Amino acid sequence: MIRFEQVGKVYPDGTTAVDDLSFEVAEGELVTLVGPSGCGKTTTMMMVNRLIEPTSGRILVDGEDIAGVDPVKLRRRIGYVIQQVGLFPHRTVLDNTATVPALIGWRKARARERAAELLDLVGLDPSVYGSRYPAQLSGGQRQRVGVARALAADPPVLLMDEPFGAVDPVVRERLQNEFLKLQSQVRKTILFVTHDIEEAVRLGDRIAVYGQGRIEQFDTPAAVLGAPATPYVARFVGADRGLKRLSVTTIEEDDLEQPPVARLDEPAGAAAARMRAEGARWAVVLDPDGDLHGWVSADALTIAGEQGTVADLARRMDAWVPLGAPLKKAFSEMLQYDAGWVAVVDGAHFAGVLTPAKLHEALRRSVDADERGIARDEVDFDSVSDA
Ligand code: ADP
Ligand code: MG
Repeated sequence: MIRFEQVGKVYPDGTTAVDDLSFEVAEGELVTLVGPSGCGKTTTMMMVNRLIEPTSGRILVDGEDIAGVDPVKLRRRIGYVIQQVGLFPHRTVLDNTATVPALIGWRKARARERAAELLDLVGLDPSVYGSRYPAQLSGGQRQRVGVARALAADPPVLLMDEPFGAVDPVVRERLQNEFLKLQSQVRKTILFVTHDIEEAVRLGDRIAVYGQGRIEQFDTPAAVLGAPATPYVARFVGADRGLKRLSVTTIEEDDLEQPPVARLDEPAGAAAARMRAEGARWAVVLDPDGDLHGWVSADALTIAGEQGTVADLARRMDAWVPLGAPLKKAFSEMLQYDAGWVAVVDGAHFAGVLTPAKLHEALRRSVDADERGIARDEVDFDSVSDA
């Protein structure tokens, strides 16, 4: 969807901002550009909407070389969100959000209707915030308006330059979470600039790690953390990359163990006998639909003897995580409940349990996959794979 082919930018004063950039952002993909200040991230981004012109190479958007596209028309297809937000101070939040639709000639009522929809989507009730002025909002709320405004004309492409850089860490994490949820609904093609590696691995489907004016590695977050391509990348992602990796490696069906299971409506005695035969101290309790209910100990069942059903003795489960959640979530549940395992559900359906040993194995598995090159991106430009 966005394709850089050997793009370079030398500013008139001789500064080489970027050199020989080649990469591609697929449709609906979110690619984060991460690197220290001055490494060329903003320059890269501004070349996509032609606020800056490259001095070599070419950039294609949707297969079309943008050098031949009228910049004004181009920018209608590309939403742009920046850290300073740039809201008009004397216009209401609603009118700020409706800026682009109004600019491209939508009727006023339709533009406002659309703006209200978008404010709602970013978590700002239009009936409360629509009539406010930017100065009457918190920093986090202003950022949300910035995102709503960029989405208002429904552009397929979104450029975001450190959009959450100016807000405090707590608000920032909330904005990131909301933004991920939003992206799962709108599926825009997004180039997202940040200097924060945590933010980059959290948000990106893939990450481009920038050195000075060039890409050192372009890959999935798990691969960048698990197998840094260069010593520079290893330093940049930090010594705790193993920990960061917990946040980007997901729980898969294969990581799960199948513990003994008891049914809610089963007689206690029968369940106890079966567990004794299996040498099990506890069992996961499922309802008749196979949904997770809780757990029961073999001792409790044995004491109950022939009386009652598993339902009388089962305890509700405190901790569970959904399949596909990051390993970090399972790990933190284990720590919080001081548990030796955590139940994993697929919807409400019980899928298995994750144990510390399996968690470790899952981490190893993704490292191995990277080392075998399985999780690599498909971009085959020499300049990228050489990085
Ligand atoms: P980043 O966004 O990663 O901080 P930039 O793309 O803004 O980096 O800048 C990359 C390099 O280009 C820096 O060395 C910066 O000083 C330089 N630069 C940016 N804009 C200009 C300009 N208009 N003229 C000359 N040099 C510039
Ligand atoms: Mg910048």
